[in-house]
Parts: sequence; C-alpha cells; structure tokens
Amino acid sequence: MNTNSKTDKICHFCSQNIKIVDFKNTELLRRFTSAQGKIMPRKRSFLCAKHQRYLASAIKRARFMALLPVSAR
Ligand SMILES: [Zn+2]
Repeated sequence: MNTNSKTDKICHFCSQNIKIVDFKNTELLRRFTSAQGKIMPRKRSFLCAKHQRYLASAIKRARFMALLPVSAR
C-alpha cells in the first residue's frame, strides 16, 4: 500500500496508448528535452521505465537524423 501521490502522474505515452515513440514526431520529443537539448530525467518527464527507454532511443535517432539538436555544442 505505497501509493505515492507524486507517482500518480501517469506516463504520457501510456495514457495516450502510444506503444512506440515516433522519432519523427519532433514536437513531441522536444517536450521531453531540456532547453539544452538533453533528455529529461524520469523524475521530470513522468514516464514509465519502458517509455523512458523508448523516448531516449527515439531522441538519439532523431539527433542522428538531424531532427533534434545535439546537447553538446
Ligand atoms: Zn509508459
């Protein structure tokens, strides 16, 4: 019975029933990156472990395709 009030913010992708994070959806990916272009930590993004991993790989793919800026400048 450890219902944390902080954890009841549901994962964005789970709530929308999105199974695969589309790396071409840069508008969405941008929401989960900081101003420096870094991937948000799970505490900030409120994603579940599964989608956080999918998001990270989607962002990396998007960077490779030059759709998102790379964090280090
Ligand atoms: Zn999720």
